[in-house]
Amino acid sequence: MRILIAQVKQETNTFCEVPTTLRTFSSSYLYFKEEIEENLKATRTEIGGFLQEIHNQGGSFIPTVAASAISGGSVVEEDYQILKQSILEPLKQEINVDGVLLSLHGAMVTDLHEDPEGDIIESVRFAIGADIPIAVSIDPHAYVSKKMLRYADIIVAYKTFPHIDQYETGLHTAKLLFETLSGKIKPVMRAVHLPMLISPEAQVDSAYPMKDVLGYGREFEKNDSVLSTSICPVQPWLDLPNIHSTIITICDENDPQAIDISKKIAAFLWEKRDAFMPERYSPEEAVRTAIHCKGDKPVALVEPFDSTLAGAPGNSVTLLKALLEQGTSVVSYITIIDPITVEQAFQFEEGSEVDLSVGVDQESLLEDTSLSIRGTLYKLKEDASFYLQATGVMEGMGNTAIIKIDHIYLVICSNAFAHQDPNSYRSLDLDISKAKIIGIKSTLHFRAFYSEHVQDILFIEGKGVSSGNFFDFNWKKINRPIWPLDEENAISTFEII
Ligand SMILES: [Zn+2]
Repeated sequence: MRILIAQVKQETNTFCEVPTTLRTFSSSYLYFKEEIEENLKATRTEIGGFLQEIHNQGGSFIPTVAASAISGGSVVEEDYQILKQSILEPLKQEINVDGVLLSLHGAMVTDLHEDPEGDIIESVRFAIGADIPIAVSIDPHAYVSKKMLRYADIIVAYKTFPHIDQYETGLHTAKLLFETLSGKIKPVMRAVHLPMLISPEAQVDSAYPMKDVLGYGREFEKNDSVLSTSICPVQPWLDLPNIHSTIITICDENDPQAIDISKKIAAFLWEKRDAFMPERYSPEEAVRTAIHCKGDKPVALVEPFDSTLAGAPGNSVTLLKALLEQGTSVVSYITIIDPITVEQAFQFEEGSEVDLSVGVDQESLLEDTSLSIRGTLYKLKEDASFYLQATGVMEGMGNTAIIKIDHIYLVICSNAFAHQDPNSYRSLDLDISKAKIIGIKSTLHFRAFYSEHVQDILFIEGKGVSSGNFFDFNWKKINRPIWPLDEENAISTFEII
């Protein structure tokens, strides 16, 4: 069996004004053809899972493109077309394929396409015809469109929040494709769209309510004829018409069962909606509470509204400001993305006293813009990067400067990177066990890698393009009613696809 494989993953935040380009993809990874196996085989990515299952089945594959980028603004259309054409190119040459495996995010937007994943799947379908199966793995924050559901045979989302099962999802998706090809199963996929936006801060899978919702979905999978259930609370910062969360069920040849299960899981999720409300602290309260924590481990102070993993620029100085006001006496590590300030810092020698301005003043929802700081240039590192435990690939921070202000170690990076892993600090020789406060710009994913190293996690209230307070945003295109913007949203607005 010969399988065409491809990956294009980026989560767009339509409130983010920084465009996503091929260069942005390169900061995480961007591989073509043979480079894919060379770099992603035996990694914990979906591609790692695809390749493993193809190997297990004695199949062969046609590698096309594997591109993964940090969340951000819309993808530049020209660059999207390069990625898309890389997938379609072998099909234009009339190379025979028996099946297609795609790893997509599901919440990408381009300058021209509100549903590029639907566009990719549709284009592949038109190129290969109706009979060759297409199996797709997605991030559960996908905006699963009708087009995606119409042209794919199999769509499977990760089952963990934070997402640590990318490899397993790739493997599961590939297994279902091979079982389809061998005639062992005839997958029937049915979905329910429901009008809900849920802040990722409240989606951790180890706690109520998400733990219960995922457990409810898993119960159905104990039945052999239920091949997959996917619970997809959409990436909420997408101001697009027809935005929705989605439940997908795949059953073996049983259409009514797939519909019924999707409806039941959707109703279960909907009933729990009021529990998806995270507790937040004011910046001052968070710093004060952290300083007075008695345990040996540090306290994580999280700026979810400026999460680089949710499309925010990572340049808010909200936490820094509170630390400068009342937290300079305890060791803290915090990070800000500001390439201009890094460039200025590189004009000095390590050990110099510097006066700089951090935080980028831009048209956005950020309430804190630039802040003047004075400190010692503690360290400079060109092209800093670290090993990302979630996927097993390197993540680039770009040129990085550390400014020491009393006991604050302020890490200023050039690239908006996945700020979810203590390895970002460790790679700069900052031992997180020595800090009292660790600043994190993430909503959810950091929990998988920080939880065991911190004694408490406090979310800070603030404004930014990844704020969980959806009432802060100037929504223009989104469909209404939608929860929580419209409280009395009826379950009757659920749509079966
Ligand atoms: Zn996600």
